[in-house]
Amino acid sequence: MVMFLILFCVGAVFGSVVGSIVYRLRQNSKWWRGRSHCPECKEVLTARELVPIFSWLVNRGKCRHCGQKIGAHYIWLEISGGLLFVLGYYYLVASGDLYSLEYLYFQVTTIFWLGIFYYDLRWQLIPDILVWTGVITAIIFSALLGTSILSLVIGVAVALIWFGGLYILTGGRSQGSGDMTLGIYLGLVLGWKLLLISLWLAYVSGGMTALGLMWSGRFSWRDRLPLGTFLIGAATVTWWYGDYLLTLAMTILY
Ligand SMILES: [Zn+2]
Repeated sequence: MVMFLILFCVGAVFGSVVGSIVYRLRQNSKWWRGRSHCPECKEVLTARELVPIFSWLVNRGKCRHCGQKIGAHYIWLEISGGLLFVLGYYYLVASGDLYSLEYLYFQVTTIFWLGIFYYDLRWQLIPDILVWTGVITAIIFSALLGTSILSLVIGVAVALIWFGGLYILTGGRSQGSGDMTLGIYLGLVLGWKLLLISLWLAYVSGGMTALGLMWSGRFSWRDRLPLGTFLIGAATVTWWYGDYLLTLAMTILY
């Protein structure tokens, strides 16, 4: 229980960092430089205003200096970060241990994915810098973990064929180029089998969401669904339940 609490707090801190990095990327400011400040009055935030979840609740989602509303997405990102760390522990500790390299890889990737997920959901854009940093991280971890180069190459190749094919078929209209780089990243992490499953999951869940939104009149054919958000969601589920889904797919196919 104490372990869960600690992990939740660590995850919430990372969620908070993701929130500020994503915001800075959007503002085109240097995300690694400078201290966090209120976007409205530019007041630099003090330590007690930077405690994840807690600060937001205590100040009721407002800046302590100017009273400007601070988006609820901060607290959601912090809670998500915390939950992802707890779930990651649950997922990997069952099979390995907390101090393994695999666990570290998992959590680092989760943080990158959370940032991409949120950015695409909010601004319908996949931030290249996050994806490419993720790709480099994935290559380093794969080398350390001794993943076969062949499986990495196949993962990337399948992503290239899929998104390249879509691009050619639709004359470049179906998607942003960000989807392809994200596909490559996911192929590296998941390998080609799980990549195919998450593609399938992403399109099915995305399609169903679009239909649901159209039904309620909040979406039209011209709107663009943030595919990256669905891809990341699907990839996360696949990473956790991939083997189960694979068996299920085999049973259905044969
Ligand atoms: Zn302020």
